[in-house]
Amino acid sequence: MSDVYDVIVIGAGPAGYPAAIRAAQNKLTVACVDEWRNTDGTYAFGGTCLNAGCIPSKALLESSELFQRAKDEFAVHGIKVGTLGLDLAAMQKRRAGVVKTMTNGINTLFKANGVTGIQGHARLLPGNQVAVKGPDGSEKMLQAKHVVLASGSTPIRLRSVPHDGKYIVDSWNALEFDAVPKRLGVIGAGVIGLELGSVWRRLGSEVIVLEALEQFLPMADQTIAKEAQRHFKKQGLDIKLGAKVSSAAVAGNAVDVVYTDAQGEHSVQVDKLVVAVGRRPFTQELLAQGTGVELDERGFIKVDEHCRTQAPNVWAVGDVVRGPMLAHKGKEEGVMVADLIAGHYGEVNYKVIPSVIYTAPEIAWVGLTEEQVKAGGRPYKTGTFPFAASGRARAMEAAAGMAKIVSAKDDDEVLGVHVIGPMAGELIGEAVLAMEYSASTEDLQRTIHAHPTLSEAVHEAALAVDKKAIDGVNR
Ligand code: FAD
Ligand code: NAD
Repeated sequence: MSDVYDVIVIGAGPAGYPAAIRAAQNKLTVACVDEWRNTDGTYAFGGTCLNAGCIPSKALLESSELFQRAKDEFAVHGIKVGTLGLDLAAMQKRRAGVVKTMTNGINTLFKANGVTGIQGHARLLPGNQVAVKGPDGSEKMLQAKHVVLASGSTPIRLRSVPHDGKYIVDSWNALEFDAVPKRLGVIGAGVIGLELGSVWRRLGSEVIVLEALEQFLPMADQTIAKEAQRHFKKQGLDIKLGAKVSSAAVAGNAVDVVYTDAQGEHSVQVDKLVVAVGRRPFTQELLAQGTGVELDERGFIKVDEHCRTQAPNVWAVGDVVRGPMLAHKGKEEGVMVADLIAGHYGEVNYKVIPSVIYTAPEIAWVGLTEEQVKAGGRPYKTGTFPFAASGRARAMEAAAGMAKIVSAKDDDEVLGVHVIGPMAGELIGEAVLAMEYSASTEDLQRTIHAHPTLSEAVHEAALAVDKKAIDGVNR
């Protein structure tokens, strides 16, 4: 006999576990199956995000930034510290503790909402049957009216750079180093490359980042990208653009990396090499023959705008489907699907998904870049405000960067908001809400912002769009 549920969710990452919780809130019977095992062999809910992504990386970014500020900035504040030391073991213990608290929290949430959490590998069979292989190897059959596939993604590996988990590593390994590498190589100047490169640079590594593209952060507004590149260079991140890695080989306790750029072939030796060239959808042993679920040419599960797959009552959400690989995008898809299954309204506004890069200065944006608006041909206007003119940023000794707004000339609609500076990821929340409500620039201009706050920079950028900035020079 199969156990029968209204909904079975496969994967308990930030796309799957919210789907399970919302489905239970909608009074459906729900099981959520996950196979994630941490390096110590223990099972844990939370997926990549909680175990090996968003949360551990932010824990280390915070610790390493505090270390760097204590080293380089406390003196400016008039704070004297004795000899500053790094206890990496303690830092890593804190990181692991934060992860454990958060992943245990999912067990609590499952219990509180009545979700049956199951540890093991799940495979979808035709007819919405799900075979679950448990930790002891035994197989159990489950049956559901609806199945939600939320199996996530996995790092892309390069054939010419053979992963060994010790010297040539992925982002998960790079979060768990037990010593600061003297020389760290990173392939890929994307989000992971910049965040993890920053962590280890701040803790003392010499960091070289090899990026195949000629353009830095092509997905970001280029005013912001240029500002970011300048800061990262100043911080000592050696970012080589147009650098194509042809080989990497472990030699003794180091890695020899060969790459070519416009100047020709180069070789560099590093102690660890992190491959951060993107992630691919993970569907290994997920789908039995005959389920009707189809993959596209890049391996993503094919879905419509409501995350329906080609198979009846089978849905897919998160990194395993098209769209940005972001935890909050997956979460909203999971919630949407759980609401649709229950017969409620559900939708995701894919035009208003914020992006944040948690470097210092932080980078965040929502909506269109100036380059995208220009290419679309719609007449537009822009306004910027530098944090150098923000009283709060000055008081924080964090006056780098700017806020920039791109608005439509015809009806004043806010089309994109771009911030590089302190707490940019928090500041972007206001812009997301404004765009979700189709705000005009004037709406932002007429909204009162507390003084002195960093959010005044967004307000002043909105004023600057119409050359009405008070605290900045209108250009
Ligand atoms: P995952 O989180 O990958 O979860 C999928 C789960 O499904 C896993 O637990 C997996 O074990 C399980 N699973 C897969 N197949 C099966 C099966 N057949 N049976 C049972 N279980 C299965 N995003 C952000 O928005 N902000 C950030 O700051 C951020 N930082 C990141 C930092 C790093 C280093 C990395 C690697 C990623 C980061 N991301 C960040 C991306 C984010 O982690 C992903 O977008 C997010 O985790 C995707 O969620 P998901 O639920 O779709 O998949
Ligand atoms: P990414 O797509 O952000 O960046 C990969 C970079 O590697 C790109 O710049 C690409 O041009 C480059 N690249 C690709 N192949 C290369 C090669 N052979 N040689 C040199 N460079 C090469 O991917 P990522 O940094 O690996 O991150 C994976 C996913 O995780 C992303 O989709 C990202 O959204 C998500 N993530 C998000 C956050 C966040 O939201 N703060 C943090 C980390 C990861």
